[in-house]
Amino acid sequence: MDITTLGSGSSGNGYVIQNKSEALIIECGINYKHAVEALGGNVSKVNGCLVTHSHSDHAGFIQQYAKAFNVYTTKETLEERNIKPNTFHYCPIPLFKEFKVGKFVIKAFDTEHDTKGPCGFIVYHEEMGTLLFLTDTHHIKYKFDFPLDYIFIECNHTDELVDNSIKNGIIPRKVGIRAKATHMSLERCINCLKACDTHKTKAIVLIHISANNGDGYGFCKAIAKQTGKPTYFATKGFKLDFVIDSKV
Ligand SMILES: [Zn+2]
Ligand SMILES: [Zn+2]
Repeated sequence: MDITTLGSGSSGNGYVIQNKSEALIIECGINYKHAVEALGGNVSKVNGCLVTHSHSDHAGFIQQYAKAFNVYTTKETLEERNIKPNTFHYCPIPLFKEFKVGKFVIKAFDTEHDTKGPCGFIVYHEEMGTLLFLTDTHHIKYKFDFPLDYIFIECNHTDELVDNSIKNGIIPRKVGIRAKATHMSLERCINCLKACDTHKTKAIVLIHISANNGDGYGFCKAIAKQTGKPTYFATKGFKLDFVIDSKV
């Protein structure tokens, strides 16, 4: 089983987890045709699509995806996209209650962002282990103190890089202030990871890095130093094979 990045960041997000016979998509902020390409045209194996929140870079193509399979997100996210919950292929999900999508076992939790009902996910599959998916959140109030095999976590900016971008006129002041108030900084990302149980973690993947206020390589180095774990950052086409613990 592996995961392919269709896009990561404010220009569009999408991830495809798949093996030969099953697939789960996370986010529909990238045109559906790119998901079909990543699936090698085998759309019938898709069990469903999870969506974290209503912003267009995560949910902009929700209607395309929902034509093909079930889309799972919070009731508020559907309402924000002007979609009636419980209509064809739209499945509102509760927080903190496990649900199954094919053989994937999923639990959603709330995040801190400037839209209604944003969430993150804990996803389990026997060929992947437990994956934490966390994006578009200022911080996280929960401790993930159970073994995580893979962590996909937003690492958007540093306050210093944002302040420099404002100072140099690269981004408007308002945009910088919003980034700091609604997205996860490197510092808060490190704090979150320190509160996670990473003793079994095989890889950390940094996602949603800001195009203007981020530094993928530098952020990876800082996180790897703090956690001692292999750390990557996701850009379009980034692919990771999941390794499962060998059973004794
Ligand atoms: Zn976003
Ligand atoms: Zn957002």
